[in-house]
Amino acid sequence: MAANTKNSFKFVVVGGGIAGVTCSEQLASQFPSADVALVTAAPLIKAVCNFKQVSKTLEEFDVEEKPSTVLEEKYPNLRVIQSAVEALHAQQHTLLTVDGLKVHYEKLCICSGGRPKLLTQDNPNVLGIRDTDSAQEFQKRLSQAKRIVVVGNGGIALELVYEVEGCEVVWAVKDNAIGNTFFDVGAAQFLIPTLNTDKPERAATCKRVRYTIDGQPAIQGPDIATGVDRLGQCRAFEEPGSALGPDWHEGIRLRGAEEVCRRVSVEYETEVKRIYTQQEFLLSPLASQTSGSWPVYVELTNGKTFGCDFIVSATGVVPNTEPFLHGNNFELAEDSGLRVDDHMKTSEPDVYSAGDVCTASWEASHLWQQMRLWTQARQMGWYAGRCMAADVLNETIELDFCFELFSHITKFFNYKVVLLGKFNGQGLGLNQELLVRCSKGLEYVKVVLSGGRMVGAVLIGETDLEETFENLILNQMDLTPYRDELLNPNIDIEDYFD
Ligand code: FAD
Repeated sequence: MAANTKNSFKFVVVGGGIAGVTCSEQLASQFPSADVALVTAAPLIKAVCNFKQVSKTLEEFDVEEKPSTVLEEKYPNLRVIQSAVEALHAQQHTLLTVDGLKVHYEKLCICSGGRPKLLTQDNPNVLGIRDTDSAQEFQKRLSQAKRIVVVGNGGIALELVYEVEGCEVVWAVKDNAIGNTFFDVGAAQFLIPTLNTDKPERAATCKRVRYTIDGQPAIQGPDIATGVDRLGQCRAFEEPGSALGPDWHEGIRLRGAEEVCRRVSVEYETEVKRIYTQQEFLLSPLASQTSGSWPVYVELTNGKTFGCDFIVSATGVVPNTEPFLHGNNFELAEDSGLRVDDHMKTSEPDVYSAGDVCTASWEASHLWQQMRLWTQARQMGWYAGRCMAADVLNETIELDFCFELFSHITKFFNYKVVLLGKFNGQGLGLNQELLVRCSKGLEYVKVVLSGGRMVGAVLIGETDLEETFENLILNQMDLTPYRDELLNPNIDIEDYFD
């Protein structure tokens, strides 16, 4: 294909994370003779590999950071432009990048992800973890640290407190149980003892390979320390990289300066009242009540104050919409994401969006909800690509099956965790009944029933129940006659419903 020198493309996708890469691959393969551009701020893109459909809706895959040339080699009609988008002129169908490049599109998909919602922007002792660079910064700071305070109760905080060794961790959560985004109090109780036991030895492998811009792998496995040095060369750009995913800490040694294995104390139902620099703290009345000298102090709403080496702000992400808003008429959701309809279309003509930056604003299936997770970024990116294609071809397209049932498979505290449907009874109010089975240290199984039908489940440990429960949720069978047998460990439930 002749090189596109006019910077005019049929399809333009912004963002080299899972959503953007999946979307642009979908478009480039479906329209081999059309010009497709992927505009992304970081020099490395995220590629999905080892994709495995575990069941009808559950999927597992690994993610590798790769140089963008990999995409261009695979799809001759796909051009990757490494530059951050500075402005969008939706009326004119053009994007402007920080390098002064003007890119024209017929159809655009914005997949610019999110950035950490920091407790405060201008304090060097408050860190957020979002991409590989910030994870490395965290690792570096941790190696000198004796105490850190982690604020937040989502997936990142959960993984972090479990993984950190050799450093005291004070974990401040606003709820009455840990992991509130994913679990109820029962599941939290099941997991809590794990925090006070030694971690099992793990083979030191790292699924994520990071490349330098010259295409050479920079970090592999536990060799991250040398990788950091080498990465120094490509740190000149300060643009945001893609969000990390499930295995972000694998291969990274999260070890503090102390000999202790793990020391985590949880402060429940509390939020940050104020953060003090060392100087501010010494001048405050609190100084006389706290011993030791720390670079930063955090005062919590429960009245306690902790000095620490640094604070990790793990309080969620804010959609990265800023460069696209000025002069345009995007409808934004309450969480500031770009609202998209059931065809991933925003309120601006010919502009679609997928992944962490968008907010699903269609009337969702009663068994699905959006959560800013890796799997959903892939599904949305893929579906957005198909919707853009269908529009160009004047074809109709139905909402994809993956949006029928929420499903997520991950690992927390070294346990396999499967979440299905309304796993926390989201939106059900009193119209729900919970069945729970728990074997300490082994498994925790929770089923959410509504009107006798299964609408959600939490499976922690090797339960082997995911496929059967997924089917029971999807077929909405009335389980009233079987409710007493459903979680009976002596009954092979798979056979039972065969
Ligand atoms: P991103 O991956 O954030 O990609 C956004 C892309 O847009 C980047 O390439 C960026 O460079 C580019 N970009 C941004 N602004 C611009 C601009 N102005 N111009 C051009 N390009 C731009 N999910 C799970 O499912 N399981 C987990 O266990 C899990 N753990 C996580 C742990 C951490 C520490 C973090 C941070 C996230 C975790 N997530 C997890 C969430 C998951 O990583 C994200 O939901 C997912 O990666 C979002 O993908 P995305 O493509 O929408 O955005």
